[in-house]
Amino acid sequence: MEETELPCPFCNAHSTRPIALPDGLWSACCADCGARGPIAPDARTALARWEQATRDGELLRTVIDESPDIILLKDWDGRFLLGNAALARLYDTTPEQLVGKDDGAFNPNREQVDFYLENVRAVMRGGRTQIVEESSTNAETGEVHYFHSIKKPLRGPAGEPRILVIAHDITDLRRAYRVIEERERSYAYAMEAAGEGIWDWDIDAGTVTHNRRWCELLGYAADTLVHPIAAFADRLHPDDRDEVMGLLDRALAGVGSYEHEHRMRRPDGSVLWVLDRGRVVERAPDGRPLRMAGTVTDVSPRKHNEFVLALATDALAHANAELERKVAERTADLARANEELARLARRDALTGLPNRLAVDERLHEESRRQPGPCGTGCAVLMIDIDSFKPINDTYGHATGDAVLALVAGLLAATVREADFVSRYGGEEFLVLLPDTALEGARTVAEKLRTVVAETAHPVAGRITISIGLAMAAPGTGELATVVAQADAALYEAKRSGRNRLVIAPPPTAV
Ligand code: GH3
Ligand code: MG
Ligand code: MG
Repeated sequence: MEETELPCPFCNAHSTRPIALPDGLWSACCADCGARGPIAPDARTALARWEQATRDGELLRTVIDESPDIILLKDWDGRFLLGNAALARLYDTTPEQLVGKDDGAFNPNREQVDFYLENVRAVMRGGRTQIVEESSTNAETGEVHYFHSIKKPLRGPAGEPRILVIAHDITDLRRAYRVIEERERSYAYAMEAAGEGIWDWDIDAGTVTHNRRWCELLGYAADTLVHPIAAFADRLHPDDRDEVMGLLDRALAGVGSYEHEHRMRRPDGSVLWVLDRGRVVERAPDGRPLRMAGTVTDVSPRKHNEFVLALATDALAHANAELERKVAERTADLARANEELARLARRDALTGLPNRLAVDERLHEESRRQPGPCGTGCAVLMIDIDSFKPINDTYGHATGDAVLALVAGLLAATVREADFVSRYGGEEFLVLLPDTALEGARTVAEKLRTVVAETAHPVAGRITISIGLAMAAPGTGELATVVAQADAALYEAKRSGRNRLVIAPPPTAV
């Protein structure tokens, strides 16, 4: 049998020979890496098939070398029987240079090298495929790479233990994960550090993540930080729910920001007023909102103060209105009392007639009227009861009072409505006849005198009066002069015998 050394498609060593198998069959085998060829009826065919396999093996070799994953075959002592280009790049060498050497030849990290050896021996001993994550240091740069490795125990031609390792470089993936982890940690720190309640709504997932402060505010257990969005809607006060959800929908469909004050309910039934502010923080490439985040601030104390203030303001307004009503009532009472006082101050208590104060005011008023006193002219009558003193002296003061009242009543009942009858003082009366000429005045005066003279008092008997009459022409100034003239005429009536009328002479033209 011709001895041929063919290149091994797995380890490249030129050490392939035919080997006899039981039952008279043959195979080819690499003395170096132990790779075994196809089974054939004789040695020649076995080698021919191996040659073919070697050509196919070149293709396989190319595939192995082109693989971005590290592929290697090791013996019990950790020596490489095969290592592809990816491994060679990591160890800064060539696949050929790897064969026959162990990791120690390329990796200065002794500890790591010993660990590899122990590890592959453990897998070979265990006889079961293992999938592990491990690291390796680049000899040249010192750069550490991480791998996700499949370690499969195999047997060599003589049954010696070997191991096939396929390692996928996950360094970039790990780095990306670490960046994400770092970001998530920072985000978690930020969430925790914030004094306010924070919410982060993953719109597609329909979940909201909250920080502990939010849970504290809303009365959730502090470790339940993620809730379905429906749970948030459920926490809204029923009277505010539609408005808030409507605003959120509008924010998602529009500008992306939202701010509102509303009430939320805690599980124990208590109500919390919050200022809730949110903004869309992430969108899909087509602009669709993906995430919305925001803060919740407890504004209950302010709301409570506003409520108390509103109540106090309301109570104050009520008290003010009541006070104003009472003041108005008292003012009206006072005005009525004043009017009554003014009326009483101008009325004589005994006779019920206007008194001296009222007379003076009326005379003053008439003096200022345009045109002249009493319009078209008026008459002033001064009346005095004759011999009144003896009535008092004879029948007593009460009878005197009764006589005064009787005369007053007779005078008032006899004149017109528009005339003015007053008690001027003592037992004297002043009568003002507006818009009256001399003849009319004389008639009225006589009528007064007659009616008194004809009315006897039940106790005092017959009473008479004396009258002095003076006329005020239109345009006359102060009526006081006319009153003095009437007084003088009265004096004349007394002097000339009483129970009579004396008309003052018209004032002489100047
Ligand atoms: P003559 O005819 O001259 O007028 O005499 P006479 O007595 O009426 O006049 P005199 O002036 O001397 O008296 C008036 C009296 O009227 C004096 C006074 O006491 C009395 N008198 C004044 N006012 C009242 C009053 O209100 N009640 C009563 N009973 N008497 C009064
Ligand atoms: Mg008198
Ligand atoms: Mg008198």
